[in-house]
Amino acid sequence: MRRINNINALLRKGEAYLIRHSVPNARKNAEWLLAHTLGCGAMDLYLDGDKYPVPLQIQAYRRLLKRRGDREPLQYIVRSTEFMSELFLTMPGVFIPRPETERLVEIVGSRIAECKKNGDFRILDLCCGSGAILISLLRRIPGTTGVAVDVDDAAAMLAGKNAELAGMGGRMECIRSDARSYIMSNPGRFHAVVCNPPYICSEEIGSLAPEVRTHEPHLGLDGGEDGLDFYRDTIPFLDWTIETGGIVAFEIGAGQGKVVSDLLRSAAFESVKVHHDYSAFERVVTARHASSVRHRGGVTGG
Ligand code: GLN
Repeated sequence: MRRINNINALLRKGEAYLIRHSVPNARKNAEWLLAHTLGCGAMDLYLDGDKYPVPLQIQAYRRLLKRRGDREPLQYIVRSTEFMSELFLTMPGVFIPRPETERLVEIVGSRIAECKKNGDFRILDLCCGSGAILISLLRRIPGTTGVAVDVDDAAAMLAGKNAELAGMGGRMECIRSDARSYIMSNPGRFHAVVCNPPYICSEEIGSLAPEVRTHEPHLGLDGGEDGLDFYRDTIPFLDWTIETGGIVAFEIGAGQGKVVSDLLRSAAFESVKVHHDYSAFERVVTARHASSVRHRGGVTGG
């Protein structure tokens, strides 16, 4: 008997396989993987449902299904994701941009647009990962330039590729460095600092979805015992690199608004505000460096 392996049947079997492996949205995942294999859009699968892919394509599709069944994130398998309605490259080992981070871009984007005068406006993205935050801000606000910094080599490299892909290569630099060293070697250089640091409590990492827990870099997720290590280690030094009047915006986890706000206030930042996301969780903290006295973090103590 001839096995039916037309597109409709491949989608059905792929969906069943992913359901057996507890993959959420199994049907959509099967569609994306088959469309990726065939180099077409998901809609085309339905227009061509009774067509027969060649055996090599079927094998390739099965390999991708196997990876997804092992709970590798779809974004790593297809090597891209959407953020702010634009395409970004992804790479195993580099943190995948999240929809909730779009809120950070919206909030800080409008603040920058409000206070940007004519002339130079430089933005620093700390813990840049794939570079999605800075690239999205540069796209939205003409005349800005920026530096994306990540402690991980692969992330800094991927951010550079994404900048090129977005046509922003000339407006942004990507640098491998830990946040504190970069801040300390660039005094007063930036008008805004944006950052989505690791903020998950160490002991919660084990309860995250398998895609995140076993495939994404813990370096980009694990914020130490209470999730707040990065904020504590970095905020006291931020005023060193940010101009008076400059804006700072951090993504935070639910319930972290108060501590991060207090850290900012004690580091010479004013107008501190916690913003919520569309699911009503605390998600972003913004503040202004309004002091004319550079207190130099913990370095001079005064
Ligand atoms: N929001 C991310 C998650 O829940 C974590 C982001 C972070 O630690 N910066 O997977």
